[in-house]
Amino acid sequence: MSDNIVIAIDGYSSCGKSTLAKALAKKLHFVYIDSGAMYRAVTIYFIRHQVDMDNPQAVSEALNNIHLNFHSRDYETHITLNDEEVSAEIREMKVSEQVSAVSAIKAVRDEMVKQQQRMGQSKNIVMDGRDIGTTVFPKATLKFFMTADPKVRAERRYKEMIANGAQISLEEVFENLAHRDYSDTTRKESPLVRAEDAIILDNTDLTPKEQLAFALDKVKPFLQ
Ligand code: C5P
Repeated sequence: MSDNIVIAIDGYSSCGKSTLAKALAKKLHFVYIDSGAMYRAVTIYFIRHQVDMDNPQAVSEALNNIHLNFHSRDYETHITLNDEEVSAEIREMKVSEQVSAVSAIKAVRDEMVKQQQRMGQSKNIVMDGRDIGTTVFPKATLKFFMTADPKVRAERRYKEMIANGAQISLEEVFENLAHRDYSDTTRKESPLVRAEDAIILDNTDLTPKEQLAFALDKVKPFLQ
């Protein structure tokens, strides 16, 4: 067993998981891995190639043809799908609308989990997602489960998307988050659920700085 540190951050959509994960990784000089970006990149492939999600053979062939790579040079998510940069496209609404269906497929999850576990084998990492503390790294050094008021989450994501030039209404964003939360928590394959040993972090009324301070305080005992 290696003694690298793995910090797992799970929670609902748009809870600020990636903001906290990035800030922690930066502060601790750990590698940041955005597992949601992987499901989103797979979704782009499925959309472009009109992969029939109900056909196991088609899904398996698609997975064989998908090669993902991270370039985490500045603690932002830079991901390539078969050598093509898709870091901006993964955030588009057409991807957000399909990603929960794609990520509910067992074969997709098995492949992503395998790749994620490999990434955390020997390095100190912070990984965020939905099943990191339950399925990917059940023995993670430290687990956080993030939550926040759904209205506050939708407003945060809406502002972020508008700032990035998206044309979208607050209602559409709210509906998408509600839909993904429902799908992610009720799916058969490793649904979003809090690991028993995860520390709950409700950030409805917390600034990113306050969240980082809270998390660093919990990590401290594990750093020599
Ligand atoms: O984290 P993000 O919102 O980018 O994730 C997009 C979607 O990918 C989630 O709504 C969920 O359906 C899926 N996902 C997952 N397991 C993870 C990370 C993301 O099922 N570990």
